[in-house]
Amino acid sequence: MKILVINAGSSSLKYQLIDMENESVLAKGGCERIGIPGGKLIHKAHGETFTFEQEMPSHTDAIALVLEKLVDKTAGVIKSMDEIDAVGHRVVASGEAFKKPTLVDDDVMVTMEEIAELAPLHNPAAILGVNACRKVMPGKKMVLVFDTSFHATMPDYAYMYAIDYDDYKTYKVRRYGAHGTSHKYVAGEAAKFLKKDLADLNLITCHLGNGSSISAVKGGVCIDTSMGFTPLAGVPMGTRSGDIDVAAIDFLCNKKGMSIDEGLTYLNKKCGMLGISGVSSDFRDLAAAKAEGNDRARLALDMFAYGCKKYLGAYMAVLGGLDAIVFTAGIGENTPDVRAAVVEGLEAFGIEIDREKNEFKNDGTIHDISGAGSRVRILVIPTNEEIMIARETAALL
Ligand code: AMP
Repeated sequence: MKILVINAGSSSLKYQLIDMENESVLAKGGCERIGIPGGKLIHKAHGETFTFEQEMPSHTDAIALVLEKLVDKTAGVIKSMDEIDAVGHRVVASGEAFKKPTLVDDDVMVTMEEIAELAPLHNPAAILGVNACRKVMPGKKMVLVFDTSFHATMPDYAYMYAIDYDDYKTYKVRRYGAHGTSHKYVAGEAAKFLKKDLADLNLITCHLGNGSSISAVKGGVCIDTSMGFTPLAGVPMGTRSGDIDVAAIDFLCNKKGMSIDEGLTYLNKKCGMLGISGVSSDFRDLAAAKAEGNDRARLALDMFAYGCKKYLGAYMAVLGGLDAIVFTAGIGENTPDVRAAVVEGLEAFGIEIDREKNEFKNDGTIHDISGAGSRVRILVIPTNEEIMIARETAALL
């Protein structure tokens, strides 16, 4: 079975064609500048990178171009579109409308339009991607895989905000979480690596990237997660504030003459590591600035590690015990100093990192960086959301 995985953004579209027989990636790539002059498709197949400069006025043009290249004599990897058994689409937010991967039909797409406002930067793009695929590949089975699905299992007392209950019922304002596909993938991989049944494990999965979220996973089921109604909540991030007292926002908006919209843009784009350090949102730049004695870069990094550590403590409590901590995503996979800072001082809880093992060079495989005496295993697991989307799509079919 071959699954085409699509991750559509507002002006970009990433894809992978995966052979589920051995989960190998036959081809992958991305379209840039859809709807903007200067369109470009970068396509990787047969160990080669092909660049095609072509205008793509719409997502439909982008998908048509991708399919043309997938069946191309030189750059292609399949003979015809018939070899694609199904398409799996990444969708950021599902609200309460969809709790698991869902087969696309007209009714589902009507609901998708209704919930688009839950993730105004992402969901409309996913809708464009699905509609484009339906147009170019009529009759092909398509599955929506939601970032929020993995968190749909949280108990009500974990996902509720303490607001007027009627407002929750009417407006569905609650914690939904994010990065669920990644948390689910690394939890499964952790169980395989530890040669344990996922059902018997208490895990804390730390997806630390430009956006970061931490989840408590009990027996393979998410019971709490740090992101909230939107991906603004939780630990401080590249440019996002993370958790903050909302009254402080009202105060800041008044003082700086910002509207609520401007206040939210400020919290999403100008805060976090960038706002604190004044240097960058990128952890590589922050580490370099700290090494040169920049104290605001030091403060940003300390705040990030402290924020993560607090969630570790909270989730150890809600799990009632812990078997492993999993680090993943750009920062989790590549930044030993951050991993060490997050877990340092937790020896009393049976968490000990091996400083030498922690310094490994990322080679795309799983690394166990636990100290010899650590009761809790500390793992670094490269995430792979595309494979997970393809697995979910195949499983539904
Ligand atoms: P992600 O959102 O998962 O792509 O992660 C992006 C963040 O990961 C970047 O902003 C960097 O701070 C960090 N990152 C990515 N690659 C590396 C690397 N090789 N070394 C250190 N940090 C990295």
